[in-house]
Amino acid sequence: MSRPRYLPLALLFITLLRIAPQALAQQSPSKPLDKYVVPQPQFEAIVGEYSGERALEYVRGITQFHRIQASPGFTGARNWVMDHLKAYGISDVEVERFPSDGHTRYSTHVGPMAWTAREGELWVEEPFRERLCRFSDQPVCLSTLSNGGEWRGVAVDVGGGTDAASYEGKDVRAKVVFASGYAGAVHREAVIRRGALGVVIYPAADDRPEHPDLVRYNGLWVQADEKEKATFGFQISHRQWERLKPQIASGKLVLRAKVEAELHAGALEVTSAYLRGSDPSKEVILVAHLDHYKFGANDNASGSASLLEIARAVKTLLDQKRIPPLKRTLHFLWVPEHFGTVAWLIKHPEVSERAIAALNLDMVGENLVKTNSRLNIARTPDSLPSFLNDLVENVAEQVEEANLVSPNGSHNLFHWRMTPYTAGSDHDMFNDGSVRVPAVQFGHWPDWTHHTNQDAVDKVDSTTLRRVGVLATASAVWLATADDDQVIRLAGLTMSSSFAKIYPRRLGLTSTPGGFLEPGQRLNPSVEQAAQAMMSLNILLTENG
Ligand SMILES: [Zn+2]
Repeated sequence: MSRPRYLPLALLFITLLRIAPQALAQQSPSKPLDKYVVPQPQFEAIVGEYSGERALEYVRGITQFHRIQASPGFTGARNWVMDHLKAYGISDVEVERFPSDGHTRYSTHVGPMAWTAREGELWVEEPFRERLCRFSDQPVCLSTLSNGGEWRGVAVDVGGGTDAASYEGKDVRAKVVFASGYAGAVHREAVIRRGALGVVIYPAADDRPEHPDLVRYNGLWVQADEKEKATFGFQISHRQWERLKPQIASGKLVLRAKVEAELHAGALEVTSAYLRGSDPSKEVILVAHLDHYKFGANDNASGSASLLEIARAVKTLLDQKRIPPLKRTLHFLWVPEHFGTVAWLIKHPEVSERAIAALNLDMVGENLVKTNSRLNIARTPDSLPSFLNDLVENVAEQVEEANLVSPNGSHNLFHWRMTPYTAGSDHDMFNDGSVRVPAVQFGHWPDWTHHTNQDAVDKVDSTTLRRVGVLATASAVWLATADDDQVIRLAGLTMSSSFAKIYPRRLGLTSTPGGFLEPGQRLNPSVEQAAQAMMSLNILLTENG
């Protein structure tokens, strides 16, 4: 659909007429514009209350659970979160359940089967005897959704194992298949299609070879119609693989696998907690995925723990009247990643109208030195320009200047930056063209421990938790409390940052930013986006007349 070329300009001028005179008035010499959008006393109240040490304690609590989507361990983790919310006087809490059985579909997602796993062991029986994995010691070494049973057979290596070419000239029937591809795809090719006993996944040669003892997280993601044929998957480290490789080549390596587990129907559980605002028609969403393997810490016990500490800190500050009463509701969401968020958004189409913004916290506790990482704040996509980007960037600068550390945390440099939109977590679904709630993500990348046994609580830093927690809390409280004057102050910032981006791009001085576009939408990082970012502030203004 084409629109008149003058429409973006018209939108921008309408917005400028509405906001700019007041914004400019704020810049008069007698009343200098504050550097930061969040008032300093409010920021300091949050800094004083928010505890990185408490957040770290919650991380320790949540990592006890093997909290796979739709599985009993997930229910254990969300009960743990709910118990803590109640203990802090946050009783406005609800759990919504969505059938998940490897068959029921939510948009493009099929909800996974539930999985009750008690134990799983993989042994070499010949030519020597050695245990390669025990689930109760190292939960990630058993592939998620492995079926129960006992198997014994000779090993065969098929390389990648995810396509037919891997199996040409190889008879894998009644053998244990070793491969380096994703467990779910290898299991489907080797076991479901070709009658192998099960799969053992070793790391691809180029996957973090400098860390030979990493055991990676992997899943079979068996669908309901595959259940009867489904067997097992295990993961081994690079070092284990190097030792076994010559034995496999000789055709004499014999393994025994035993798994005590069941695949069954379950539910995706989405937990909401509310701190209600005076205007029930508007809310700010804070979301974190609660699922993952036992001991998994930064991904994403850190985000889930941070949500709990944000809720506690804001409740305390409200009770003590140290921050203004909320106009808009703070809505906290603990979700099973992707699957639960999609199911929940389908049930709640009104979120598109009600939610003014969403903050997604995923991997927010990294010790920056131990993980060689950086905090990335992913902007909304170019198809959804928003004031939200300018707000969180401004608050991040305020956090950096505050130079926060936690009593038992590191004194690492606060290394952060704004990045173009990147997909990969629950902010995707909010930014999606069918929902259009502007969502930013706080997360760390790179992280060499990601999806391995080394993503454990020793890589989490209470200083990082405090910095990101204060950043998210101050942003959320601003979104929930801002009055017209504060919105106008942010408008000045949005205006100047939009134009600062337009001119270098127009002159070809910057590369095309990342982001997705709706069908038929052209990338025009220009006046149209600036206008839309400015217009997005109207959602905060209109209710105040
Ligand atoms: Zn994650």
